[in-house]
Amino acid sequence: MLNIVLFGPPGAGKGTQSERLEGRYNLVHLSTGDIFRANIKGQTELGTLAKSYIDKGQLVPDDVTIKMLESEVNNHPDADGFIFDGFPRTKPQAAALDTFLSSKNTEIKMMLSLEVPEEELRDRLKKRAEISGRTDDADPAIIQNRIDVYRKETEPVKEYYEEQSKLEKVDGLGSIDDITQRLFAAIDNN
Ligand code: ADP
Repeated sequence: MLNIVLFGPPGAGKGTQSERLEGRYNLVHLSTGDIFRANIKGQTELGTLAKSYIDKGQLVPDDVTIKMLESEVNNHPDADGFIFDGFPRTKPQAAALDTFLSSKNTEIKMMLSLEVPEEELRDRLKKRAEISGRTDDADPAIIQNRIDVYRKETEPVKEYYEEQSKLEKVDGLGSIDDITQRLFAAIDNN
C-alpha cells in the first residue's frame, strides 16, 4: 500500500494536488475538510458539531476527527493506498493514525509538505473566498485564526514525521503543473 500524508498550511494547494496524485497512483483521496463540509451540507449530527468549530477557524476535536477518519478508511477495504489531506493536523492525530494503520498491517510511507510563504497563503485564500463560498474563507479574522492554529498545533506534526525520516519538503510556489511534477518526483524517488 502507498499511504501518503499531503501536508501544508491552509491555501497550500493540498486539494488541487491531491486530485492529481490520486489519478496517477490510484489512491483514495481522503480530505477531512471535504468530509466535514459534506456532513454540514447533509445536516448530519457530525456536520452540526464540526460547523461550530470550522466557522471560528478552530480545529474539530481530535476524538471526533480520528473516529471519522478511521471509518472512512474502513469504507475502502480494497484501496491500493490513501492520500490523507488535512489529516493528521495535531500530534495526537498523527499518533492515532500510526496505531490504526499498524493494526491493519500498513503504515504511512511519507509526508509531503508543501512549503508556501505566509503572504502568498493570505493572497490565495482571499482569491479562493471569491469562488469557494466557504464561510471560513470569507473573513480575514477567521483566516488569521486558521493560520495561527496551523502554526501552533499543526506545524509540529512535521517534526513527528521528521523523527521517523518520512518528511519530504516540496516547494509549493510556482505553477500548479510544476508543483505536481515536484510531488511526482518526490514519490518516485522514495
Ligand atoms: P484548509 O486547509 O484550507 O484550512 P480544510 O478544508 O482542510 O481547509 O479544513 C477546513 C476546516 O475543517 C479546518 O479549518 C478545521 O476546522 C476542520 N478540519 C479539517 N481537518 C481537520 C483535522 N484533521 N482536525 C481537526 N479539524 C479539522
